[in-house]
Amino acid sequence: MYLKNNMKAFLKTTFFSMVPITRLPAGSASILKYHSIGESTSPLSVPPHLFAKQMQYLADCNIPVMSLSDLVARLRERKDCGGAVVITFDDGYRDNYSAALPLLQKHGFPATLFMITDLVGATENGHAYLSAGELRAMADSGVFEIGSHTQSHPRLDRLSPEGARTEVQGSKAVLEDLLGREVRFMAYPWGAYAAETPAIVERCGLDAAVGVDEGTVSTDSPLYTLPRNSIQHSTSMTQFRGNVSTAIDSYIKVRGCVLRR
Ligand SMILES: [Zn+2]
Repeated sequence: MYLKNNMKAFLKTTFFSMVPITRLPAGSASILKYHSIGESTSPLSVPPHLFAKQMQYLADCNIPVMSLSDLVARLRERKDCGGAVVITFDDGYRDNYSAALPLLQKHGFPATLFMITDLVGATENGHAYLSAGELRAMADSGVFEIGSHTQSHPRLDRLSPEGARTEVQGSKAVLEDLLGREVRFMAYPWGAYAAETPAIVERCGLDAAVGVDEGTVSTDSPLYTLPRNSIQHSTSMTQFRGNVSTAIDSYIKVRGCVLRR
């Protein structure tokens, strides 16, 4: 697994530095997945100055940044995705409030945050998570939509259907109570779901769900397993440009051929 991941990272860096970076066509969109925005050396933490550079790139290139609500509305109406980028954050790190919100506000970019509800106001493994007040302030800012990332961050494919339903419905209810607004989206912890999970999520009243498979979204994309492209500590600007362009889909095709051998 370690070697396979290293090979994937090497392939991606090499590939994105070689292929032309072409804007996403109107028919597709790229959903980006962030976690923490901070100075930690954790692989999931993007330093604030790099996050600022990435947002500036989107602004300089006039790449439309769309909310997940707008993207899902377009998908439901089978309208094109506008060649847009959608920004999302998983888990609910406190630095999303202190470091990401001001930068997003500066550019007028919307974003979605998927909160683990058992961790509201908690500190775990040295990570501080958003308090109820911060979550409310983020939702009230008009920048953030708050979505569910379950109650306890389990792999939903390892739970019974009833267990999965409790995690999804429970976290949706907690957030709706806390925010006083409807929670419409969720992200699967670890990107893991069983065959029946998307239907459970739909029955819980959510409008769409996102995973961790890479690639762009198009009008054919399944609403309850939308792909996302991960931006991490190690993501270079070359890789970032690749993730918001047609290069990401070309890379997935090449990776499929190489890793199948
Ligand atoms: Zn997570």
